[in-house]
Amino acid sequence: METKPVNGKFELIKVPFGNADLQPYISGVTLSFHYGKHLQAYVNNLNAALPGSGFEGFSLEDIVRKAEGGVFNNAGQILNHNLYFTQFAAPESCQPAPTGKLLVAIEAQFGSFEAFQKEFVAKGVSLFGSGWVWLSANTEGKLLITQEPNAGNPIRKGLRPLLTFDVWEHAYYLDYQNRRADQLNDLWKIVNWRVIEERYA
Ligand code: MN
Repeated sequence: METKPVNGKFELIKVPFGNADLQPYISGVTLSFHYGKHLQAYVNNLNAALPGSGFEGFSLEDIVRKAEGGVFNNAGQILNHNLYFTQFAAPESCQPAPTGKLLVAIEAQFGSFEAFQKEFVAKGVSLFGSGWVWLSANTEGKLLITQEPNAGNPIRKGLRPLLTFDVWEHAYYLDYQNRRADQLNDLWKIVNWRVIEERYA
């Protein structure tokens, strides 16, 4: 399902958890800045840049596929954060691993769920500077892990994004300072695999 503007504007997405529900892995303070300030700013910036850009009325996904420059950067960051925030849930309500077709595909591609987690975190840790690590599916349903710098999203390469960890410092610095690997390893505790399974279905 693509994200359409309402009366010419994109809106800040609603998240399926309370401000303190992801603690201690994402604190309420981090959430208030990351979601309430950073994501809100990308939404405001895109809405301000849309008139006259040629992308009025386009879905968010189509803007990310086709735009360049500031319009792409802000649209990409909105789509990336929408996928990021909506994949989480309070730790007590999360399953430790996916099931069904997604688990079968992960085991076929990476050998085991644990091997997949290790490779995903390693690719997040080794990404130089700001960006995102992604699990995506290609048109045949085959899974792959990719690194995207800055506002990059795998839909620009024809892939379907399933899971992402944000490795911009604003995502973790208040809680984990320079310990990016610790943050990424802890994020597994709040991944809502039901959401990722639906994205893969
Ligand atoms: Mn971010």
